[in-house]
Order: sequence, then C-alpha cells, then structure tokens
Amino acid sequence: MWNQTIFDKYNLLNSFKKKIKISSSYYFKKLSRDRQLRIHNYITSDDKKFYSNQNLFDAIFFELRTKCNSQCTFCAASIQNDIRPDITMSFELYEKVINELAEINYDKRISFHVNSEPLLVKNLHEYISLARKKCPNSWIQILSNGRSLNNQRGEEILNAGIDELSLNLYRKTLTEKLPMNIKKFEEEVLYKIYNKENVYHGLPGKINKKRFPKYIKYTKTKRLVEEVLSNRAGSAPNKKNNHELPNLGYCSHPFSQFNITVNGDVGQCCADFFFQSKMGNVKNNSILEIWNGNRFKNLRDSLKKSQRHNNLLCAGCDHFGMNNLPKNFIKRQIYKLLFINDD
Ligand code: SF4
Ligand code: SF4
Repeated sequence: MWNQTIFDKYNLLNSFKKKIKISSSYYFKKLSRDRQLRIHNYITSDDKKFYSNQNLFDAIFFELRTKCNSQCTFCAASIQNDIRPDITMSFELYEKVINELAEINYDKRISFHVNSEPLLVKNLHEYISLARKKCPNSWIQILSNGRSLNNQRGEEILNAGIDELSLNLYRKTLTEKLPMNIKKFEEEVLYKIYNKENVYHGLPGKINKKRFPKYIKYTKTKRLVEEVLSNRAGSAPNKKNNHELPNLGYCSHPFSQFNITVNGDVGQCCADFFFQSKMGNVKNNSILEIWNGNRFKNLRDSLKKSQRHNNLLCAGCDHFGMNNLPKNFIKRQIYKLLFINDD
C-alpha cells in the first residue's frame, strides 16, 4: 500500500511538471524562428558532440510484428488507428541480423519494438534466446505496455535472458491501480526468479553485469493513454496540425538508432512509422553497409548542419532530438523546461 501511494504521488508530480513544460513550450514557439533554432542548437550541442565521436548505433530495434493491443491516441500503431497489415518477421531474417551483430561483438541495446508491442509475438522468448546466446554482452530490453503480460509469458522472457523489462502502463488516469496481471506476475514470477535486492528499478544506464551477475532492471511507469506527445514526423493521430512546428535543428536518432521492420526494411528513425524513408533492407545488405551507406550519411550531414528541411520527415517533425541530458546546468534546466512533446 505504501509503495502504491509513493508511486501515485510520483506520477502526479510528473503530470504537474508536464503542465509547466507545456506553458514554457508555448512561449518558446512565440520566439522568432532564428532564436528558436539558436536555443535548440545551444541545448543539443553536447549530444551532437557525443554522437560525432561514435561510429555505431547504440540501440537496434526489431519490429518483430506490426501490431499493438493498446489504444494510445498519440500513436499510429494503436488498435483504432493502425492500417498496417499484421505481419511477423521471419526467424531466418532475424537470425541473419543477429549473426552480423555477433560478428562485431555487439554489446549495446537490443530491443523488440519500434511502433509495436513485443509481447504479441508468440515465440518472443526464442528471438530473445538467440540474441542472448550470440551477443552475450548486449543489453536486451523488452519495452511493453504490459497488457499481454501473464505468468507464462513473463517466465519465458525472463528465462530467455533479458536484462530489462520496462512497462509503460497506459491508462485513462494516473491514479488507476496496478493491473492484476502485473501484480500477479511480480508476486508469482519475478520475485520467485530474482531476489528482491537484485531487481533494480529505474536505474539510469546499464547495470554492471560483472558485479551483479543475477539481476534484472524492472520499471513500470503509469502513462496517459490520451496524452499529446511529439507529432512523430506527422504520424501521430492526435497531433496532425503541423502549422506551429518549432524551428529545430539537430536530431540524434539517425546517429543512435537502427530500426528494422518485419520485411527487413530499415527506416531513418523510430518516427518513420511506415518505413517510408528507407535506408536499406537487411535482406540485401549487411547492417554495417546500411549504417555506413550514403542515405544515412546524407541524413546525418543535414542534421549536423541543423537542416531538417532537407529531409521530408524531419521537416515536419517536432521531436526535440536529444538522447543525453546536457552536462551543463543551464542547458539542462532550459531543456527540462522546454522538453515536452516527446515520447
Ligand atoms: S505507444 Fe506503444 S503501447 Fe501505445 S499504441 Fe503505440 S506501440 Fe502500442
Ligand atoms: S527529426 Fe524526427 S523524423 Fe527526423 S530523425 Fe529526428 S525523430 Fe526522425
């Protein structure tokens, strides 16, 4: 009961902070376009520097199945909005990519969602097991809305070797109680497999695997199913009006993410809902060929120069575009004040 109260207070505080940010964002949009861009460049400069020294993505996302079972009004993958055919990635295609990751000793994040719900893939644990075996040092994350989490699915994915299970619980209000299936999973599975002291909640970054060989990062966040977030490059169903887009420049996504959908197409970022800005296809090329190919390079060059207008999707996107919080205190505070409509 005590935990539940703290949890609710934390979520209510977040909702209050969000309201403050919404008004700051309103005033940001009132500034001249030139000033908006200069502020954006100032805040994102550290992130830009960070990624200019990195030559590989730090997260690979497999959209294993083009389907979700939630009704988030801000997301084109929601039940009421999705118009994509329901397709699942073949295991062979997935294995090809995992083998390539194994060849380069990939040790960064592997995730099983783009605009989709990973637990809707029936044999998800088999996909996870392969990644665990071939890329033992990678960080395997399941980010889920928790709706399909039951004891059996939970046990399967934990035993397959995930490092992280993060649940975004989308509900009408932030005060709704924890769903029964999640409670049951925690009591009957999670805390049977792991000692409580080895379940880490909300730690930033990765856990030291050598120090904590038997651990899991487990987080759950209550979120509003009817929120208005970023416009996802124009795909967000509840934010179609692009007239008031702020003038933003650099975006880190094409420097940090590699998104693959069910047929092997690689998109430019997770906001590329239909994979329409195709960087390549992993059936025809290796992941490194695509990552180092001209399409990604041209996109990154434009974003480095703060020229979102050179790319059709970026030109209509209001994603703030930064992965790491600025180290500088002032930058960080300005960012926290303005960083709202994101996901
Ligand atoms: S935000 Fe996530 S949970 Fe919600 S509809 Fe989209 S994919 Fe599903
Ligand atoms: S600005 Fe938007 S569309 Fe462009 S790379 Fe970033 S998230 Fe994707």
